[in-house]
Amino acid sequence: MRTPIRRTVITRRILTEAGVYMCAFGLFVGFVFPYFAVLLGVEDTTAFQPTFVLSSVAAGLAVGFVGTVIVRRSVGRPLRRVADSMSHVSDGLAEASNGSTGPAFDLATAHLDLTSDDELGECASSFNTLLDELARTRVLDDQIRDLTVAMSEHLEPSRLVQVALDHLVLRGPYDAGAVVVLRRDDIELVSSTGLSDPDALASHQLVREVIERNHSRRLSCADDVLIDGAIVDIHPRQIEMRALASHGVPFGAMVLAATAEVGDRARRLVEATTVSLSMSLRNALTHQEVEQLAAIDALTGLYNRRLGLQRLEEEFARAERARSPLSVVLFDVDHFKQVNDTHGHLAGDRVLRTMADAVTAIVREGDTVVRLGGEEFLAILPGASLVDAHDIAERMRHACAEAVVPHGAIPISVTVSFGVAGSPHPGIATTAHLISRADEAMYAAKRAGRNRVVVADAPDQIPLAG
Ligand code: GH3
Ligand code: MG
Ligand code: MG
Repeated sequence: MRTPIRRTVITRRILTEAGVYMCAFGLFVGFVFPYFAVLLGVEDTTAFQPTFVLSSVAAGLAVGFVGTVIVRRSVGRPLRRVADSMSHVSDGLAEASNGSTGPAFDLATAHLDLTSDDELGECASSFNTLLDELARTRVLDDQIRDLTVAMSEHLEPSRLVQVALDHLVLRGPYDAGAVVVLRRDDIELVSSTGLSDPDALASHQLVREVIERNHSRRLSCADDVLIDGAIVDIHPRQIEMRALASHGVPFGAMVLAATAEVGDRARRLVEATTVSLSMSLRNALTHQEVEQLAAIDALTGLYNRRLGLQRLEEEFARAERARSPLSVVLFDVDHFKQVNDTHGHLAGDRVLRTMADAVTAIVREGDTVVRLGGEEFLAILPGASLVDAHDIAERMRHACAEAVVPHGAIPISVTVSFGVAGSPHPGIATTAHLISRADEAMYAAKRAGRNRVVVADAPDQIPLAG
């Protein structure tokens, strides 16, 4: 605690200086007074008598001294209180910034109770205003720190954005919000709060402009603007749109709507959130892209074997929990070796891509198509019964047989054999059982003449088409 010493020194120096000046002035007045006395008609002999001069000097000194005492009492005390408060604040802030584990320093306790109508009163009132502003800044700093910590705990883009929106919408002054990102040329919604149709807001031309121009826009709304809110429709008073950018390159936007006027402090929070969110979201998106690249088969754009089987495990566990059906379709291109041998490896690659596209066009959202390896694929169909899966496999078979791969004068067409298996089934306890049964069914289809769907069902595997 070095500040009290410095504070005392400063206060004492000012007061000592004032005292010295006053006493010196008193001394000066004491010496000069005999001359005034002569001017006022006192006899020279009387005015310059040693006792008269000494008395007048002593009187001057006494006035200087009394003045010093008065200044010390009337100015020194309040000045010391100001100095004390200032050092109390600086000590408290220093401790807080050193990460003190003690009770949080309360700026309200440092307020000065000094209401005099003079410079000191003005000084105290400015000091109190400064403290209030400091307190508000600290609240904002705490909010930003909490938000940054909360965001740093998530790497999944939608969770990350949800955390940011929760801070601004649930705990902040906004009523609804959405974050979108630009992928290729499309604006994609990452997450939203308080909106039932966030796509309508997110795909708005103004949002695209904000991203493309990498700037922010604040709109004050007329009464007739209506946003489709999750619970009640929102008549926003203000809409805030901010571009999210990384290294100066915009990649998305945050849109916030408030039904009441938004203050400066909230806007500063939005500003800080935009900066943190831009950085974290860019990282999260890059991480997601890298993960996807590692999960995607480069030739067909389908899930690769590793991620595909992982996905199957997840879907299998989910189906067991929900006691819902899960079917898989395992399929393999017929006589593919001949395609390679006849038309070359590159043409074979094109055939694989065409088959992947044909099959992907048939499955529903939530289904996954995996390239298991070579010309062998797996479709994971959550919620599909064996009958549904058989139907889907038949449609895939037709789509594959009808697809034509351009290749010089003679376009290539191929057929595919399918094996279907599904759970729940007494003989299927794991994903390995499920795949093995689908594999057996697929080989049964090959044996039965290819270009057909076989559904695995104990005891016989029944070829259902061909
Ligand atoms: P079946 O009807 O019994 O399935 O006969 P098939 O000729 O399709 O099966 P086989 O296992 O004998 O041959 C598969 C061929 O697929 C052999 C391999 O060279 C080829 N292949 C595997 N991966 C690729 C690939 O990525 N690109 C190309 N062009 N060919 C591949
Ligand atoms: Mg084959
Ligand atoms: Mg094969």
